[in-house]
Amino acid sequence: MGEKKNKAKAEINEIKKTVESKTQKSVVVPEYLTASSRFKFRCYPGIGCFTKCCSGIRIILSPYDIFRLKSRLGKSCLEFLNDYTIPMTIEGSSLQTVGLKMKDDELRSCPFVTPEGCTVYTDRPLTCRYYPIGMGMMKKDTGKTGEDFFIKVKEDHCLGHNEETVWTIKEWRQDQESDLYDEMNNDWMAIVLKAKTLGRVEFSQRSLELFYIVSTNLDLFRDMAFSPRFIEAYQLAPETLQKLAEDELELLKFSLKWLRFVTFDEGDFKVDQEARKKAKEKLISQAEEERKRQREEAIDAMDGQA
Ligand code: SF4
Ligand code: SF4
Repeated sequence: MGEKKNKAKAEINEIKKTVESKTQKSVVVPEYLTASSRFKFRCYPGIGCFTKCCSGIRIILSPYDIFRLKSRLGKSCLEFLNDYTIPMTIEGSSLQTVGLKMKDDELRSCPFVTPEGCTVYTDRPLTCRYYPIGMGMMKKDTGKTGEDFFIKVKEDHCLGHNEETVWTIKEWRQDQESDLYDEMNNDWMAIVLKAKTLGRVEFSQRSLELFYIVSTNLDLFRDMAFSPRFIEAYQLAPETLQKLAEDELELLKFSLKWLRFVTFDEGDFKVDQEARKKAKEKLISQAEEERKRQREEAIDAMDGQA
C-alpha cells in the first residue's frame, strides 16, 4: 500500500516538474484540469489568427495519425514517410518515430495548411485535435492513458481563448475525436508512457528499431505478419489472419498490441519461442535495411543541396 502511495507521489512530482518546465515558457496555464473542467474557446475560419498555429510547430505522428493521413492521401506507408515526415525522438524517452516535415518556407509551414485552412482537416493529427488542451502524463494502474489530467496551452497569437463558447474537456475531446485516436493508439501510448515514467529506459538498439518500424510502417509489418514464420511463432488462427487481411485497421491495432508485447511482455499472445525469435530477427533486419536506406537518401539530399 505504502509502495503504491510512493509511486503515485513520484508520478505527481514528475508531472509537476513537466508542467512547471513548460509553464516557464509561459504557454501552459499552471492548472491541472480534469475531464469535467471547463474552458472558453472557439476556432473558426475568419478568426483573426486563422492558421497561425499551423507553422513552426513540432508534430509527432502517432501510428493512427499515419494510418489516417496516408489513407486520405492514397499513399503507401513508404511514400507517405518519404514525402511528409522526418525522424523525431519522442520527448523524455529514447524512442524514435516520425513527425510532420514542415515546409522549407519562411514560416516553416505545415505541408497541409492553405489560406483557406487545413486540407486534411477531417484526418488531421492528434496533436492538432488536442490543441489547446494538452494531455497529462499520468499513467493509471489499468494501463489506460490520458484520462487523469490535462493542461491548457495559451499562446499569445491564439485568439480562440477570447471567444465565449464554453466546453468541458470531455466535450472538447469528443468534438475533436481525440477519444477515438487515443483508443486506436492505446497500446502504443502505453509503451510511450511507460518509457517516460520509467525515466530514460535503456532500450536495446533492436527494440528501438522495432519500435520505429512498427510505429511508422504498417506495410512492412503486414509483410512480416503474413510470413509463415510469424504465423507459426504467434500461432495465428486462420480466422485471425482473415480478419487482419481484410481490415487494415484491425491490422494496425494488432501491430501495436504485438509491439507492446515484444517491448514490455504485456498482453496475451500465445508464442512458440524459437519461431518467435526468428520472426523478430527478420523484422529487425528489415527495419535496419529501411533505416539505412533512409539515411542514404538523407545524405544524397544533402549532397544535392551542397
Ligand atoms: S495538419 Fe492541418 S491542423 Fe494540423 S498543423 Fe497542419 S494544417 Fe494545421
Ligand atoms: S491560433 Fe487558435 S483560434 Fe487561431 S486558428 Fe489556431 S487554434 Fe484556431
